[in-house]
Amino acid sequence: MKAFSYVNPSSEKEAVAALKTDGIAMVIGGGQDLLARMKDYIDSPDRLVNVKGLDATMTSTPDGGMKIGSAVKIIDLFEHAQVAKLYPSVNAAAIEVGTPQIRNQGTVGGNVNQRPRCWYFRNEEFVCFKKGGSRCFAVNGENQYHAIFGNEGPSHIVHPSSLAVPFMAYGAKFRVLGPNGEREIAAADYFTMPTLQNVLKENVLDDEDILTHVILPAPGIVKSGHYEVRYKASHDWPLAFSTVVLTMSGNTISSARVVLGAVAPIPWRSKAAEAFLAGKPLNEATAAAAGEAAVSEAKPMSGNAYKVQIAKTAVKRAIMNAAGLNTV
Ligand SMILES: Cc1cc2nc3c(=O)[nH]c(=O)nc-3n(C[C@H](O)[C@H](O)[C@H](O)COP(=O)(O)OP(=O)(O)OC[C@H]3O[C@@H](n4cnc5c(N)ncnc54)[C@H](O)[C@@H]3O)c2cc1C
Ligand code: SF4
Repeated sequence: MKAFSYVNPSSEKEAVAALKTDGIAMVIGGGQDLLARMKDYIDSPDRLVNVKGLDATMTSTPDGGMKIGSAVKIIDLFEHAQVAKLYPSVNAAAIEVGTPQIRNQGTVGGNVNQRPRCWYFRNEEFVCFKKGGSRCFAVNGENQYHAIFGNEGPSHIVHPSSLAVPFMAYGAKFRVLGPNGEREIAAADYFTMPTLQNVLKENVLDDEDILTHVILPAPGIVKSGHYEVRYKASHDWPLAFSTVVLTMSGNTISSARVVLGAVAPIPWRSKAAEAFLAGKPLNEATAAAAGEAAVSEAKPMSGNAYKVQIAKTAVKRAIMNAAGLNTV
């Protein structure tokens, strides 16, 4: 690993200031993703700016929502009673992240901003679009874990963050601080689809920006559900998963947010499933049909058509969970 300097800022502003350098500066939270990339020579920063000392609290907001510091550990997010009560699908996603060690070390900011797990990206020998190259090795290569939605290219990654999916489903905003001050960005606008111009990144952060908080609005009268499918029940990454947040009027769904994870370069909102669910009774038949609607526009690659069925099932079972109906 290349030698680097290490800065321990004592405020958000100091952290942003420390990111300004002639070389490459990067933010480090729990370090589980970034240090692995450095050891694999995917990234070789000159300076690391530690943001673990920034806000690690979870507080109520005046409108009945919650403000979550980006330095909050995933395990603390999972164990927070108010988070579990107001946002049960955030709680469900948090406990599914990796292993106890990963949840004890990983931060909310690091989880949301972690880089793709595409095996070509993680191997220094493959200089693909995401590393400034001119091709995507997954197109004609091993793409069984890649995208089934948003496959226009140039990159076909799936977004790796489990927490980003329920954050988007509950309508979270992300507070970002940069050299020009702070701004709030809807989770739905934070993650970016790859284009030739922005393929080196997965979100709207500039080089000197940090994510400081995730702000969740008051949930309102909703039922929510979360369901993940893995190859085997261990620390595997999910093959596909879904969070649904249903605004209810009696037993009728008045509106829905349906977000899928591990299926597209961004947490993928299914407008088709949302349109289908509006005005429907909440039951198993509705859940099954919404699953069908959710995958109606899937465009799998050569090796991952199997993920379409899994995504369909994840949506169906997330809705069944929201309804309190048993899922196997
Ligand atoms: C076996 C295994 C299984 C896993 N399974 C899952 C899973 O199921 N779901 C899942 O979501 N993850 C999973 N992970 C990944 C793991 O959860 C992430 O690596 C971890 O959450 C990253 O958090 P961190 O704080 O360690 O991030 P870091 O490594 O510190 O940072 C990650 C990236 O985010 C940037 N960053 C960090 N904080 C900020 C900030 N405040 N503002 C701006 N940028 C920031 C860093 O510069 C870096 O590029 C798994 C990992 C392993 C090894
Ligand atoms: S999917 Fe993206 S990260 Fe993977 S090889 Fe293609 S361009 Fe690179």
